[in-house]
Amino acid sequence: MGMSPEVLSSLQEELKTYESLELSSSNGISISGSIDLVEGGVQFETYDIKLLFPSNYGDFSSKTFPYRYPLVYETSNKIPSNIGHHKSKHGQLCLEIPPRELVICKDGITLTYFIEEILKPHLAIQYVKVNSNEKKYLYAEYDHDLNGYWDYFKEYYQLDDKQLVLKALAYTTYNLSWSKSKPCFCGSERQYSECHMLAVESEIHLTSKEIRRIYFKLKRNYEN
Ligand SMILES: [Zn+2]
Ligand SMILES: [Zn+2]
Repeated sequence: MGMSPEVLSSLQEELKTYESLELSSSNGISISGSIDLVEGGVQFETYDIKLLFPSNYGDFSSKTFPYRYPLVYETSNKIPSNIGHHKSKHGQLCLEIPPRELVICKDGITLTYFIEEILKPHLAIQYVKVNSNEKKYLYAEYDHDLNGYWDYFKEYYQLDDKQLVLKALAYTTYNLSWSKSKPCFCGSERQYSECHMLAVESEIHLTSKEIRRIYFKLKRNYEN
């Protein structure tokens, strides 16, 4: 299933404000060109990029753009291909761990939002990493892949222990509820209703299938 005519025409409309980007529809929809990083009116870096809009991401969600990010390839090779720089050996950038991406895209995103709020800040972080001797990350950034999933859910539930994160995730995944007046499962000795109830039972903006797959991914990772 390809891109709907509505999504395609809004992409074309948005591209009018990006002279350096061009849409191609041969062999699937893609956008190629360059992205300038500008600060205080001064351009300090340009990256060549290619955006792909696949109809299947091959992971735990069946959603596509605008409910997923386009896939991004950095073709100017200014960012090294390694996990620390979130770039695969095929040149694909890893912009976000999918659980968080799905939440950001829950109502659908525009191309402009993606470029301005997601891609440019990401490129700016990689620029700093490449061009400074500082080994530590200068900005808050989730770790790559599974470690990033753990970081995300540790923060989401405000829990440090992986086993407790899994427990919280199981409650969320299966819509289970702990007894409100009993001490919380996290061991805080506070009542559940005043501790983790809100985090566990509030809307997580993932489908039941998505959250189930994330839960099993982390469970498998924890057990191995
Ligand atoms: Zn990554
Ligand atoms: Zn708790």
